[in-house]
Amino acid sequence: MIRFDILSIFPEMFQTPFGCSLIKKALDKQLIAVNIHDIRTFATDKHRMTDDYPFGGGGGMVMKVDPIARALDAVVPKRDKAHVILLTPQGETFKQTIAEELSFYDQIVLICGHYEGVDERIREHLVDREISIGDYVLTGGELPAMIIVDAVSRLVPDVLGNRDSALFDSHSTGILEGPHYTRPQEYRNWKVPDVILSGDHKKIDEWRRRKSLERTLERRPDLLEKADLSEEDIKILEEIKAENL
Ligand code: SAM
Repeated sequence: MIRFDILSIFPEMFQTPFGCSLIKKALDKQLIAVNIHDIRTFATDKHRMTDDYPFGGGGGMVMKVDPIARALDAVVPKRDKAHVILLTPQGETFKQTIAEELSFYDQIVLICGHYEGVDERIREHLVDREISIGDYVLTGGELPAMIIVDAVSRLVPDVLGNRDSALFDSHSTGILEGPHYTRPQEYRNWKVPDVILSGDHKKIDEWRRRKSLERTLERRPDLLEKADLSEEDIKILEEIKAENL
């Protein structure tokens, strides 16, 4: 079982996202565990302050080192088995490959910053990794923490109903997944492609691979440069390019 420990000053933000859908089921089945820790409870002064004015002046508050350090001491019993992540727009960009890597840890600790961010000594001495969920700035690290818990949890065995579904997801294979259809076969004269109704699974697989390559070429050609493509894939891509000339 993978255990997530989230350090936040707004623990109430996590109730709904973790209280429904597949994440709730995974929690109920004890496939994952999520513990939310209120950083305020680790502040020792009488006002339970978790932030303070920045040394050197300037606008905004900075999250203090000591409550976060104490929280880490409390929630990480075995430092070598845990992976401590600081959420920051300055970190490496979160990707499916990072989610896959994280799914092998026993314990993942996510530190949610606020205001101007956290005291630099947290980054320097207390964390293993810094992750950003994209090149934009949010008010706090709670939404990034939810995104990481979600993306990692669905890779944990048995969290998804169908084990295979994660294998073919966009980015898991290095390229984008092709289109999906379900009933009805025809709606407002919009028809489902004949091939996927044919029952010929070899043809369906070939069609899916072709659509997946076509979609990646159209939307994310950059992914094709790094993807693990077979000779057949390369031939299909050449055909698609020739058709679109
Ligand atoms: N002053 C900081 C900077 O310029 O890098 C931004 C601080 S941001 C307003 C407050 C907190 O939100 C950060 O400490 C971090 O925990 C979280 N945060 C904001 N954007 C994020 C992103 N793209 N990825 C991960 N965490 C983010």
